[in-house]
Amino acid sequence: MLIPKTMKAALLQDYYEPLELVDVPVPKPADDEVLVKIEASGLCFTDVHIWKGEHAPPALPLIMGHEGVGRVVALGPNASRLKIGDCVGIGYVYGACGNCRNCLTGGENYCPDFDATGYSTQGCFAEYTCLRDQWANKIPDGITPVEAAPLMCAGAASYASIKKTGVQAGDTIAIFGMGGLGQYAVQIAKLMGMRVIAVDISIKKLATAKELGADETVTAGDQAGEKIIALGGAHGCVNFAPVTATWSMMLEACNPRARIVLTGVPAEQMVFYTYQVVERGLTVVGSSASNRQEMNELLVLAANGKVKGTINEVPFGNINAALTELTEGRVDGRIVLTMKGADV
Ligand SMILES: [Zn+2]
Ligand SMILES: [Zn+2]
Repeated sequence: MLIPKTMKAALLQDYYEPLELVDVPVPKPADDEVLVKIEASGLCFTDVHIWKGEHAPPALPLIMGHEGVGRVVALGPNASRLKIGDCVGIGYVYGACGNCRNCLTGGENYCPDFDATGYSTQGCFAEYTCLRDQWANKIPDGITPVEAAPLMCAGAASYASIKKTGVQAGDTIAIFGMGGLGQYAVQIAKLMGMRVIAVDISIKKLATAKELGADETVTAGDQAGEKIIALGGAHGCVNFAPVTATWSMMLEACNPRARIVLTGVPAEQMVFYTYQVVERGLTVVGSSASNRQEMNELLVLAANGKVKGTINEVPFGNINAALTELTEGRVDGRIVLTMKGADV
């Protein structure tokens, strides 16, 4: 396939200013990299933080975007794992050192030296991008690029969080926050055989959770913990809501020795009495992104379209409007930019 010399890319030049849609050179894959022609690229709230300068990247201008899916079109001299035409996904972890204690024990996404796609390397808001062939996620059959894109960050983060609860098939998980990650989590937990209690403040979102397979729904509020206990209590809780209000509900909802996994990041501190955790032997764990094995497991679960997101498809040329909508909280589900036929 003929690879052009230049491509359209959305450049972050100044924080909180519209991204500039400009022609830039198509990158050349380094030794262990492959060049991917992007077909779909998800927009994540992390991109909003980077855009605003709240997570300042090492250098500007920057091409953001870490939920890309496309086809391999060129191989670096030592990229031997993939072949031309493979459909691959590009997630938040561009690569890590591979040798530290975290990398060697399944925690490569916590490696102090990991590179983040679309943050410390150029990302997926462009027609082409490069990624390390050992870190590409092969997309299984039956998932379209648009469906697969949000799995690369939102889906993977959701799966890793669910797994960290340690909840076994037949036991109960309470999932707090029915936004994009929560919706994925309901479907993933059901595919893993768990009994699911979905919690949110929005009746509409709880109705969606029910459609996606939640066994029970509970409206967030003062009584939520009590209601969950009345339903048998939770063996694990996950919080995707970026608010502190869910914290006391989760502490109340837990059965003895349950695990609480924190994924959403509220701006405020969370406070608690130590006895609430100590007396019932609870475990509280943080979870961020995923490792490659978790991504592989998610993609097996999601093969043939078994994990669906609420997706708003937007042509790449409308990226600035989409970024504004996401920033202002006007998006239900995930935004995926489509590159094919985009008038850029
Ligand atoms: Zn993300
Ligand atoms: Zn490492």
